Amino acid sequence: MKHSLFFTAAFLAANLSFSSIDAWAQSPSPKKGNFDVAAESFADLQILRYQVPGFDDLSLQQKKLAYYLSEAALSGRDIIYDQRGKYNLLVRKTLENIYSTYKGDRKAADWGKFKTYAGQVWFSNGIHHHYGNEKFIPGFSFEYFSSLVNNSSSANFPLLKGETTSAFLTRIKPILFDPQMQPKMVDRSPNIDNVVASSNNFYEGVTQKEVEDYYARFNTEGNSPSWGLNSKVVKANGKVSEKVWKIGGMYSPAIERIVFWLEKAVPVAENAQQKDALQKLIKYYRSGDLKDFDEYNIAWVNDTASRIDVINGFIEVYNDAIGKKGSFESVVSLKDLEATKRIKAIADQAQWFEDNSPLLPQHKKKEVKGITAKAITVIMEAGDAAPSTPIGINLPNADWIRKEHGSKSVSLSNIIHAYNTASSKGGGIVDEFAYGAEVKERIKKYGALASDLHTDMHECIGHASGQINPGVATPDKTLKNYASALEEARADLVALYYILDPKLVQIGVMPSVEVGKAEYDSYIMNGLISQLTRLKLGDNIEEAHMRNRQLNAMWVYQMGKKDQVIELVKANGKTYTKINDYNKLRDLFGQLLREIQRIKSEGDYEAGKNLVENYGVKVDRTLHKEVLERYAKLGVKAYKGFIQPKLTPIMRGNEITDIKLSYPNSFYEQMLEFGKKYSFLPVEN
Ligand code: ZN
Repeated sequence: MKHSLFFTAAFLAANLSFSSIDAWAQSPSPKKGNFDVAAESFADLQILRYQVPGFDDLSLQQKKLAYYLSEAALSGRDIIYDQRGKYNLLVRKTLENIYSTYKGDRKAADWGKFKTYAGQVWFSNGIHHHYGNEKFIPGFSFEYFSSLVNNSSSANFPLLKGETTSAFLTRIKPILFDPQMQPKMVDRSPNIDNVVASSNNFYEGVTQKEVEDYYARFNTEGNSPSWGLNSKVVKANGKVSEKVWKIGGMYSPAIERIVFWLEKAVPVAENAQQKDALQKLIKYYRSGDLKDFDEYNIAWVNDTASRIDVINGFIEVYNDAIGKKGSFESVVSLKDLEATKRIKAIADQAQWFEDNSPLLPQHKKKEVKGITAKAITVIMEAGDAAPSTPIGINLPNADWIRKEHGSKSVSLSNIIHAYNTASSKGGGIVDEFAYGAEVKERIKKYGALASDLHTDMHECIGHASGQINPGVATPDKTLKNYASALEEARADLVALYYILDPKLVQIGVMPSVEVGKAEYDSYIMNGLISQLTRLKLGDNIEEAHMRNRQLNAMWVYQMGKKDQVIELVKANGKTYTKINDYNKLRDLFGQLLREIQRIKSEGDYEAGKNLVENYGVKVDRTLHKEVLERYAKLGVKAYKGFIQPKLTPIMRGNEITDIKLSYPNSFYEQMLEFGKKYSFLPVEN
């Protein structure tokens, strides 16, 4: 599971002085000198850069390991494009060729629009918005696009055999310009066929019912694999079958390159446990057998000693409306030793948190198994984790492995630090949306720490908590299209419930419960108001994390109405949230947590559906319009993503003597470079 950035207190904290909270947050101190966090910006997107403190202090062996794993990560880049839509590689290669070879005027206004569109495609790994999942349409005309194609080198367009440029243009036109063709990458709307309505490339020619029937035959008792995680489901001659992503199967050319680099990593692994894990990952990529993937995950969870770590595989299922198919992602990292102390202090108390939680007794884990929590410094991200990145990750996803072998929970500290630095320069959101001087002050003072703690708890005691009743199937089967939103809501609620608990002061991770109040202020403000800046007028909420946040905030607002726990205040024509009773609010969070855990434990689809649909989806149009107007005046981009550092081996003869890490400053140049260097999959037509 991943936890992505939203307008956390940290993100909101304008003019935040990072050093003032360092003692508590223990985040990496900014590198000396002028490191520019911001790079290009276009459409609703801001590109940032992150630093990798600690890399230079690694041993040569560790640097080599990081380099090989980074190459393995980038080798899977094409896969995420193809998973998000079968035309994405076609479009990307077309744009890359135009960008590289267009001979016409590069100062024209239309060229600027072309650049924006190309940037959006690179940012989203395809033609659908990375967050809202709707198809975005170019700001230039088809006529202009035709002139771009006609004035670029024809040698590198992904033409069919014998296809003329004009036939190519006819073929690609609706893919770019027709909003009715593949309108949504993933569509979770109720009472429709979510498989057919979603245009991702996980299924073809099959209905949701056919997919569900297909997987119903698999045994899901006990320690069974996450069936369907690594395959596309297709129908041929009336027969439903899987095309497995493995060497010799679908995506083989890219997976072969991943394995090539993983094999180089094995001999420089830090210890036997890590070596074992990498070898099991290679075995899985060769066999495509999900039991091998589980074996790998168990070995990976047990590797807690290594300084360098990697996530690599078909992992998160958010891009699939019915939550079965894993998107390729990779994150290469080194352990941030300082920040790890904080998260470890929480993980060490995991059993206490479970025992004292408001869950019904039968839904609590009797024994919370080794949650390994750490803060990491990211070295490389690829696939679904880039350019837009999570800020917290908790894996593996398989419930039975988490229960029997534990899980690893990480907070991405250098990424969070880059966000904080960027928002301290941009700023303004707290001043615009928070109500009253006291609340603003508190968010500015404690917001960064509050958001770090929220992330830590969301990942390591949130997702990891609770248990499913015996005989009840996994949430993807019982809660279906609501499983992701409810799971995120549950993890957030654990964090919210405990962030006001003196226990956190006692274990030394925060100075006072004022930190918790800062988190409540920003969470409620975000869930009810400021996150609406991420939606277009007229849209309802689709994305799982956004649904979760509104669900949590709206439910406590409604349930606390009679006691005025939270008020919506109007001042100068603007709407604000105001919390009157923090302890009652905490109690409400606890009640909702108990109910959502009950829903998960019992597999109560109807109750889950009602919660999400009644509280997490619908948007008040008048409020939304007001919020968008206020936000537009701030000139802040809604989404941020990252340029990756560059690792370059320094050679003497055939021998690597060092790995140099540098920080490219152009997203566009990096995307073109990646397009050349890591293009392994053919364009499917
Ligand atoms: Zn999560």
